[in-house]
Amino acid sequence: MSVLFPQLSLWLLIIVAAINFTLSAFVFSSNPKSSTNKIFAFLGVIITFWLVNMYLSLQNYSPQISIWLIRLSVFFASGINGLFVLLANVMPDEKISLKKEKLLTLLISTLTVMFLCLSNLIFKTVNVGANGGASPVPGMLIFIFPLFIVTTSIACFYVFIRRISGSDENVRKKLSVVFVGILLMLLFVVVTIVIPVTVSQNSYFVQFFPLYTLFFTGLTAYAIIKHNLFSVKVFATQAITIVIWIVLLAKLFVTKNSYEFFLDAVVFLVMVVFGVVLIKSVIVEIEQRKKLEELTQKLKDLDQQKNEFISMAAHELRAPMTAIKGYISMILEGDTGDIPEKARGFLADATSINDRMVRLVNNMLNVSRIEEGRMSFQFDTDELSRVVRTVYSQFLPEAQRKSLEYKLDISKEIKDRVYADIDKLHEIAGNLISNAIKYTETGSVIVRLVQKDAGTIRFEVVDTGPGISSEEQVKLFQKFYRVESNVGKTTGTGLGLYISRLMIEKFNGKIGLDSEPGKGSIFWFELPVVA
Ligand code: ADP
Repeated sequence: MSVLFPQLSLWLLIIVAAINFTLSAFVFSSNPKSSTNKIFAFLGVIITFWLVNMYLSLQNYSPQISIWLIRLSVFFASGINGLFVLLANVMPDEKISLKKEKLLTLLISTLTVMFLCLSNLIFKTVNVGANGGASPVPGMLIFIFPLFIVTTSIACFYVFIRRISGSDENVRKKLSVVFVGILLMLLFVVVTIVIPVTVSQNSYFVQFFPLYTLFFTGLTAYAIIKHNLFSVKVFATQAITIVIWIVLLAKLFVTKNSYEFFLDAVVFLVMVVFGVVLIKSVIVEIEQRKKLEELTQKLKDLDQQKNEFISMAAHELRAPMTAIKGYISMILEGDTGDIPEKARGFLADATSINDRMVRLVNNMLNVSRIEEGRMSFQFDTDELSRVVRTVYSQFLPEAQRKSLEYKLDISKEIKDRVYADIDKLHEIAGNLISNAIKYTETGSVIVRLVQKDAGTIRFEVVDTGPGISSEEQVKLFQKFYRVESNVGKTTGTGLGLYISRLMIEKFNGKIGLDSEPGKGSIFWFELPVVA
């Protein structure tokens, strides 16, 4: 065998064997009941034995040993192919669902070929050539071995392709990963070993063969345990640590003098301690993260339930409120005959209180709709002044009831055509005016429309209410936020400003306030003007 570094092939074998054993052990221990995991673990171990056997058979031994090494290598190869077929049929299930007859045929044929491989019917003996190289002498039934390998390879490919095309998404993904692993392994074997050896007798890459098996074992192990990414991380830490341990341990045996041995032993022991600490800390961290994930999920579920409840309750409340509004307006319009002036006043109050409740309920409904992306917007172009006039007059009775000075001030010659959902603009303006009236006990509420600049129109509600401190201003447009001093005094949900902000942002606008405690507030929003 022509190798540049005689040590290299041994080191590669040791590293690959360590990785394969670790993968097998990890996959098996992650679910010892699963047939897929068992088959994989068994396959990983046999592949490693086969690699060790191949390595040994490339060394020069006596003919008696050589013939057994050759027989063992075909013995393992047959077993590996049989297991490949089984894995292709079973993965990723826990139970083997293959029909009994098929399973029995596979088992009996594989075992028969394996044991034939150990007899002199496949390889009789070895001839030692003049240059010391040993060449095997085929036995009577030699054809059985290639026949078995070709048949099982075809069966394996056939099952993989059939199952990949006919399975559901999850299974297909897993099988595809394994299939890619097998194909990559074969590709490297053919391109770097089979072709160079047959074309130019260059066998340099033969020593890398063990590495190529990692494509299969690595990707298959990944596909089997992929559903749990956390365990992949634990596994990666364990695998790397164990590989380092094995390499360091192997180095101990090849050290030449006692000083080197001592140093290597110390390094090995330190690495063992560090490795254990590392693995433990990764496990602890991952468990904590798992717990955190579970808690987050629980919170999300609770939030979802709360949203559903709000949405359902709001829906149920809206219908009777709309009916009340309808009946009151029928009475006010004289459908039930003349009504005294005093009753008219009470009914007007009842309407505005009912309107406030409708607004509250609408905000509750809007929150869940907008957060879940279910809110539909009907964009249209209209003059903002029309919206403002309508909303302003809706609040006239309420402002009068509180004896507030209530004024509308729309600058002359303004450009106020905006592109937005006009109904939603009514709601936003309504929220701001309703708040100003609700929180102002004496003084005035002035509704204004001003041209901020050529491209922006600004709506303002100026009140002489309590005002809001700058610490509270920053939190005002958040969900459910209500100013501390107002909680209990007035009814409200803390949703109006939040929902208004979300909607104004949808229309490419801005919303905000200027306020100082004791000096009243100016709540405003700005929208881009369109031609
Ligand atoms: P709600 O009025 O239902 O509580 P909003 O989101 O409309 O909810 O308002 C949030 C909080 O902002 C209110 O609870 C109130 O404390 C405060 N607020 C809103 N507008 C004014 C205003 N004009 N003057 C004083 N405080 C206000």
